[in-house]
Amino acid sequence: MAESKDYYSILGVSKDATADDLKRAYRKLAKQYHPDAQHTEEDKKKAEAKFKEINEAYSVLSDENKRAQYDRFGSNFEQAGFGGSGFGGYSNAYDFSGFGGIDFDLEDILGSVFGGGFGSSSKKSQGPTRGADIRTNMSLKFEEAAFGVKKEISITRNEKCDSCNGSGAKPGSRIITCDKCGGRGKIQMTQNTIMGAFSTVKTCDKCNGTGKVIETPCEKCSGKGIVRKSRKIEINVPAGIDDGQAISLRGEGDAGKKGGPNGDLYVVMKVAPHKYFKRNGFDISANVRVPFTKMALGGDIKIPTLEGEMEFNIPEGTTTGTKFRVKDQGIPILNGKGRGNLEFTVDVDVPKKLTDKQREILIEFAKTFGEEVNPKKRGIFW
Ligand SMILES: [Zn+2]
Ligand SMILES: [Zn+2]
Repeated sequence: MAESKDYYSILGVSKDATADDLKRAYRKLAKQYHPDAQHTEEDKKKAEAKFKEINEAYSVLSDENKRAQYDRFGSNFEQAGFGGSGFGGYSNAYDFSGFGGIDFDLEDILGSVFGGGFGSSSKKSQGPTRGADIRTNMSLKFEEAAFGVKKEISITRNEKCDSCNGSGAKPGSRIITCDKCGGRGKIQMTQNTIMGAFSTVKTCDKCNGTGKVIETPCEKCSGKGIVRKSRKIEINVPAGIDDGQAISLRGEGDAGKKGGPNGDLYVVMKVAPHKYFKRNGFDISANVRVPFTKMALGGDIKIPTLEGEMEFNIPEGTTTGTKFRVKDQGIPILNGKGRGNLEFTVDVDVPKKLTDKQREILIEFAKTFGEEVNPKKRGIFW
C-alpha cells in the first residue's frame, strides 16, 4: 500500500485550516501549476504531477466527511477503483452500487470534483473559456530596477486566428452535424473495472460536445481557431521595483476560446546584484574604505551613490564599523514619492607599503603614545 500522503502540506496549510484557507491555497497553487501555464515541456510534466496532487488533496480536504476520514485514517482508505486517474484514494466517496446499465457522465463527476475555472484543460467546457495566464521572467540591472526602464520581452502565446476570426472554419465553409457522435455531442463507452462493467458517457472528442463540426477547417489554424504567435511586448518597469516582484498585464496572456476573455501576463523581475550596494526595501547600504589617517583626523571622503560619487564629511576620531546615513540617496519609492536612504559603514584602510619617511613619521607618532616600537620587526608588522 502506498505511503499516506500529507494533503495539508501539499496545500501548504495547517491542520486547522478553514474552508476559506483551503480554497485560497488551492486556487493559488492550481493557478501556479496549471499545465497550460507552463512554457516548456519539462515544466509541463512536473506541473502536471503536482497539479494532480493538489487536486487530490483539495478534493479530500474540501469535503467535510472525506476530511474527517482522512484525518483518522490517512490517504490510503479504500484505495480501490480509480487509482492513478487523479481520484487517488477516495473512490468510495461515490456510490457505485447498483450501477447496472445506468449511464453517468464521468466528466460531470470530474467537473464537480475539480471545480470550474480550469480553463482550457477541461474538455467539458464547451462555452467561452478564459485563456491561460502566462508567467515569464525579466532580467534587470540594479539601477534599472531602482530608476525604472522600458524594456521588451519576447513571449509565445495563443492568439485568435485572424484568418477565420477564431471560428476555426475556412471562410465560406459550412457547419455540419458531427459524424462521430451523430450530433449528440456524447459517446457511450462500456468499461470493465474491478467493480464490474459499467457504461460511461464521454464528451465527443471530434466536436467537443457541440454536435457540430466545420465542413472545411481553416487552413491557417487547422480548425482550432487559435494560432501560436511570438510577440515582443514593451514593459514599462516602474522605478523602485524589487527582485521577485511582478508586473501584470491584463489580457496579454493566452487568447480565450469561443469568445472567452484572454488570460493575463505576469512578468517577474529578476534583479541583478550591485557591485557595491545591498538593497533592503528602498534603503541601500555599502562599505566604504577610508584611510586610517582620515578616520583619525576627520574630513571629506568620497562615497558611492547610485548616481555617482558624492562627498561626505566624517568627524575626527571615526572608528572602523561606524555607520553613516545619507537621506534620500536610496531607491525611489515604488508608486510613491521620495526615496529611501543610503547607509554606509566605514572600514579602515591601512596602507600595505610605507616609504622610509612615512615609517619614521609613524614611529615618532606611536612614541607620542608611549608605545614601544621595534623597527627590526619591519616586514612583519609594518
Ligand atoms: Zn483559423
Ligand atoms: Zn461529435
